[in-house]
Amino acid sequence: MPVNHLNPRQKESVLHIDGPLLVLAGAGSGKTSVITTKIAYLIEECGVPARNIMAVTFTNKAAKEMKERVGKLVQGKATNGLTVSTFHNLGLNIIRKECKHLGLRPGFSIFDDGDTKSLLKDIMHREHGGDGDMVDMVQQAIGSLKNDLIEPEQAIAMANSAQEVLVAQTYAAYDRSLKAYNAVDFDDLIRIPTVLFQTNQAVREKWQKNTRYLLVDEYQDTNTSQYELVKILVGMHGKFTVVGDDDQSIYAWRGARPENLSLLKQDFPSLKVVMLEQNYRSTGLILNAANKVISNNEHEFVKTLWSDKGYGDAIRIVKCKSEDNEAERIATEIIEHRLRHNGKYRDYAVLFRGNHQSRLMEMKMQQYQIPYKLSGSQSFFAKSEIKDIMSYLKLIVNPTDDAAFLRIINVPRRQIGPSTLEKLTEYAGKRHISLLTAITEMGLEQTMSPLALDKLQRFGNWINNTTKRCFTEDAVQSLKEMIHDLDYEAWLHQTSNTPNQAEARMKNVWFLIDNIERMMDKAEENGDEIDIEDAVSKLVLRDMLEQQEQEDELDQVQLMTLHASKGLEFPYVWIMGLEEEILPHRNSIEADTIEEERRLMYVGITRAKQNLTLTLTAKRKQYGEQFEPTPSRFLEELPKDDVEWEGFGETSQEQKKARGENALASLKNLMNT
Ligand code: ATP
Ligand code: MG
Repeated sequence: MPVNHLNPRQKESVLHIDGPLLVLAGAGSGKTSVITTKIAYLIEECGVPARNIMAVTFTNKAAKEMKERVGKLVQGKATNGLTVSTFHNLGLNIIRKECKHLGLRPGFSIFDDGDTKSLLKDIMHREHGGDGDMVDMVQQAIGSLKNDLIEPEQAIAMANSAQEVLVAQTYAAYDRSLKAYNAVDFDDLIRIPTVLFQTNQAVREKWQKNTRYLLVDEYQDTNTSQYELVKILVGMHGKFTVVGDDDQSIYAWRGARPENLSLLKQDFPSLKVVMLEQNYRSTGLILNAANKVISNNEHEFVKTLWSDKGYGDAIRIVKCKSEDNEAERIATEIIEHRLRHNGKYRDYAVLFRGNHQSRLMEMKMQQYQIPYKLSGSQSFFAKSEIKDIMSYLKLIVNPTDDAAFLRIINVPRRQIGPSTLEKLTEYAGKRHISLLTAITEMGLEQTMSPLALDKLQRFGNWINNTTKRCFTEDAVQSLKEMIHDLDYEAWLHQTSNTPNQAEARMKNVWFLIDNIERMMDKAEENGDEIDIEDAVSKLVLRDMLEQQEQEDELDQVQLMTLHASKGLEFPYVWIMGLEEEILPHRNSIEADTIEEERRLMYVGITRAKQNLTLTLTAKRKQYGEQFEPTPSRFLEELPKDDVEWEGFGETSQEQKKARGENALASLKNLMNT
């Protein structure tokens, strides 16, 4: 969008380039558009080299979209070197480049949520003999400490209760273990660069010099360490633009601080604040509904939002008989609507509060052969059990893969402590050999206790034997035996929340092994010979392809959580499960954090451009029992005159007939004509 197409306030925001700027405005008012246009303006009109511009957003999808939008505005190669990334990717990039200042070796691993949980469980079991029921609490607490940039020693000094002492001690042990594993976790991706910048002047100045202009989208969801990172990067000059909407702050549970909006004014007294008021996305009725719902929250900033897109269609609230019915209804309505309007699948989005709601929806999509994309969900190769087994496989085909070695050395538990690993790593580092090779070297015994050495050597012998068998005997059979040998299933039971979850994860493991078997059988049928090494490298490649594929924009219905939908827009939107305990979520009802749920509802409603349908069920199953859910309180907050109710008692029957509610039947009609 060239500068001339912007409204006066947007234009003012783009042209203000010498000092700090905050654009504070409601959904769909063109905040992200200000950012993309401004990047183009800086490159084309102000001659700022793209490599000196850094833009940060919240999801990979948003980053990709932003890059594309800028690409359309700027000709040729001028965008080369432009950084548009999530906070986490930016942090990762900094860590990679500054590895040597951080005590991390290249090729370090990134522990995700599941990896972190297993490690914490292991530590707590070792140190306190606990059975793991405190792990979630401790994990969350350590995350908060990290987001607030509190180091383990500080946490220990600050701890005031038995629980805080437990958290702080576990944090210290966890931090040490991560170092021994040459790994970082998600929160570290922000914390480590921030602390590095705080403590290393030369590195800080280098990055400050390289960042001539910084832009941040969805600023309301930054946490303390992210804000600190922004502040350091922009340095004294404070050349930045941040845009945000306090009503869309939905990550308090991950440490987001909407107060960072007000803090800006304190930290940068010359801050210019621009408010935008016109919504360019949604019809009047949709916008009205969003405004009405969010008006039930307390407000620090008063914002107005209007649209000139006409009233548009009424918002539909559809009550379905069951959860199965709900998913079926949405699937068939999408088919029908698309046929009628000759539209694209990608114009449709189904949003939900919790990931578990997607399963039925996915099944219906498959049943009706509707192409769909579930975003924000975990890919097969990102599952921690698959990463574990893949690491075993990688180590078998490449004994020098230290990252794989460190990932599985204590999975399942082998009682090999961080200090043993530190010594092993140091020994291997000095001799420039791999960790696995180091185990079998003479000389290691001088560095550690016989007991520790024995544990390492037992592992070393076992993995070497397994490797030999994989290459000399039936590889698949050897792998199966390896998994039994490991007693990996028992490990999954120890590290999963429920037996069901453990079984599902074990199934994934067998699925992986089956895949290898199929790959080898197929090669044999074709007269090719492939060994386990070829099979594993094919799997690794597939992992990479899978990641790439996720990037591709195909014509697919979008299924995603409300959280993942932030910043995006779709012509036709369904939001599922408008019921108490789902939206608002049960935890939020218990913790009395309804306002955050309302913001989530606001985010959902404001994704829709033309049509919005909210669904709920009359009966739902939970833990095998059927019950009648209570409709969400947010439904009552919608403007009464602007909504149509379907499936609620008497009148609904007539309505049903009138509009041919049975979508499947009318669909058949449509297809026959
Ligand atoms: P959100 O709060 O949901 O992130 P936003 O404030 O970032 O929304 P954008 O996504 O930038 O809003 O814009 C919403 C829609 O309005 C987009 O389709 C965009 O192309 C369009 N738009 C933005 N500014 C203008 C304008 N001045 N004229 C016409 N259309 C505009
Ligand atoms: Mg936006």
